[in-house]
Amino acid sequence: MKDLQRSIGSKTHMDYAYDLDLVVKPDSQTPVLGREFGHYTGAGIPLFSLGGGIYRLVLSYILSKFHALRGYYVVETPILASANLFEVSGHLSFYKQNMFLLDIEGHKFAIKPMNCPYHILLFMHEVARYRNKVPLPFKIFEIGRVHRYEPSGSLYGLLRVRGFTQDDAHIITPEREIRKVMLSLFEELKEIYEALYYLPIGGENLKLRLSFSDPNLIGTEFMGSKEEWRAAEDALKDIADNLSRNYGISYFIEKGEAAFYGPKMDFIMNVEEGGIRKEWQLGTIQFDFNLPRRFKLFELIKEVYGDMNIYIIHRAFQGSIERFLGIYLEYSKGRLPFPLAPLQVAIIPILTGKKEIDLNIKVLAEDLSSKLFNSGLRSSLIVTEKTRLSGDIRRLETRVKPPLEIFIGEREVRERSLSLRVYDYIKRQARKEKVMFKDEEDMLNEVMNLVDSLESGVRRLIGDCPRIPVDMSYLT
Ligand code: ZN
Repeated sequence: MKDLQRSIGSKTHMDYAYDLDLVVKPDSQTPVLGREFGHYTGAGIPLFSLGGGIYRLVLSYILSKFHALRGYYVVETPILASANLFEVSGHLSFYKQNMFLLDIEGHKFAIKPMNCPYHILLFMHEVARYRNKVPLPFKIFEIGRVHRYEPSGSLYGLLRVRGFTQDDAHIITPEREIRKVMLSLFEELKEIYEALYYLPIGGENLKLRLSFSDPNLIGTEFMGSKEEWRAAEDALKDIADNLSRNYGISYFIEKGEAAFYGPKMDFIMNVEEGGIRKEWQLGTIQFDFNLPRRFKLFELIKEVYGDMNIYIIHRAFQGSIERFLGIYLEYSKGRLPFPLAPLQVAIIPILTGKKEIDLNIKVLAEDLSSKLFNSGLRSSLIVTEKTRLSGDIRRLETRVKPPLEIFIGEREVRERSLSLRVYDYIKRQARKEKVMFKDEEDMLNEVMNLVDSLESGVRRLIGDCPRIPVDMSYLT
């Protein structure tokens, strides 16, 4: 992968994913059966494991609610569809080589390679029933699982797979609203990247690639009329100019690189990873003249809403959730944002060997542990001794990396204090803190204040932060 040139010996995203129990590593052995897991799961189909289950559950909730709050309808469409759907959408003509097709009782079916045809069907269904009460722009979002054929030689970890999940949305918008819609899409992307992942979006680390048509090939390689292409490309360029004025984000145009169905804007992030600057292509926003025509949307819109020109916009901010996770794991060295981390809090009682003191330490630690778990946090108790402390911490820090570690030893019990190690996502390093407390209620409040600050980004996005207390102590 050209965006992931690694030095030998450093961990790959799959190592981090394995450490956090996010996925099953295909080349690890299945006990007893004597085979590698990949033998059973199939190449390019990642199998998320128990930590990965948490990650996906919380992320789905955050993204779904985020979109619902911003006027999107959130749906979930089937994996399998009649091939008729993809005949109408044009996928069977233009995209067949990437599709998995099957025959069921003599009827052709396809595993969906994209969610768009379903989203358009849903729009048509709603308009047929509720006519012009269906609002325009119409925005529809799905955490959509798709499958696409990729040659086995090109598959790699979570970065190049055959089964993946898009944070996928489609917007059906009147032409006159296009600039407003595009700007809001950029702002939404910025919000998610900054508040959830601590990836600042601005001129110093983001540029835009605008993929345009080749005017000489419009009508042959690029579907639609010259007017349609010009209007859409002008709109994209306007938005890019606007972003460049307001955020200092630069852009470049690649002629002839558009998709056959319309021009697109890709977000290319430039981040520092281990002292090396790397480029990742992440989100994308694409115009489409193909689908509205194939599904006769222009006619439907005209009949229901009156005479207007519309566009369909496809957009995915993370692109693929699997690929984004892989890239983010390498970038962050396995530090997932607090709300998404499989193990969020480690409580570490440090025993001294002195009976009475150790009893007090244990009581305090166990009390805090159960209170945090009851507050919805994935916390775990890791009992250690002074002599083993540094080894235990090193093991924890190289593998599970809980964002919040709470140490309780002899001094803490005596002083009524907690020694904390909190990961600072902005500085990208852990900091030490000490909090004093009066009583046990006060102790919980102090910890929960810190938790609130680690959840504040997600609260800004969706008004709350999902807390799903699963016992992840097996990780430690
Ligand atoms: Zn689409």
